[in-house]
Amino acid sequence: MIGEPFVLPSRGLLYGGKIPDGKVEVASMTTKEEKVLLGGRKSQFGEVLDYIFKSCTDIKMDPQELLISDRTYLLFAIRSVSYGKQFSFPWKCASCGESSTHQMQDLLGDLRVDYYETGVSEPFSTTLPSGSEIGFRMLRGSDERKLTRLVKADENSRNIGDPAYIPRLALYVVKIDGKEVDYLTAHNFILNLRVSDTSAFKSAIDKNSSGIYPMVDVSCMHCGYDQRMAVGPSEDFFRVSSVSRS
Ligand SMILES: [Zn+2]
Repeated sequence: MIGEPFVLPSRGLLYGGKIPDGKVEVASMTTKEEKVLLGGRKSQFGEVLDYIFKSCTDIKMDPQELLISDRTYLLFAIRSVSYGKQFSFPWKCASCGESSTHQMQDLLGDLRVDYYETGVSEPFSTTLPSGSEIGFRMLRGSDERKLTRLVKADENSRNIGDPAYIPRLALYVVKIDGKEVDYLTAHNFILNLRVSDTSAFKSAIDKNSSGIYPMVDVSCMHCGYDQRMAVGPSEDFFRVSSVSRS
């Protein structure tokens, strides 16, 4: 495979040497991959991504084992290599309601990417304000699948609030006060955590994360209002033609 070189935000440091220095090659999608991508239902998005990663990169390990942050980065890289660096998206002003189109000259180059520094290893550790020490790991592609199952199984949490909120946080937790814990223990721990602890835990996760920060600041040309917008990967992320058609 001949592709363009990229470095994963994790620098491959959590993959046990399977992706040395996080160096990967990314090749353009062909119509075959585009067909799979455009035809997939939202519920199958994870599987679709696995297929695209296998077809368009030289990564040998199971894409499910990749960090979610690396998977997101790869998506941007594949988008960039396949359709070109330029990317534009429509957005609506939150102040005056007018619609605009934001143009990016270099989709990947214009976004912030946080890379891991050498020496990073799991589990990460943080001490919460209440004194509990949590050991945690970063989420993989396979955790997304697990999360969907967990949310489906938990009938009680489905009605109020974000049903994935607690399971997602619980999946990070591998140790509490030095003791290894299973998912149920972690779930109960998170469920009863004081919000000041929850907030500290979320900050610790953010602080120890690598990955692309897919946000851009846009300014309304009608009223001058500034706002921050998320950039892909959404449904129309790969549908370049649909943008020019409308
Ligand atoms: Zn405006």
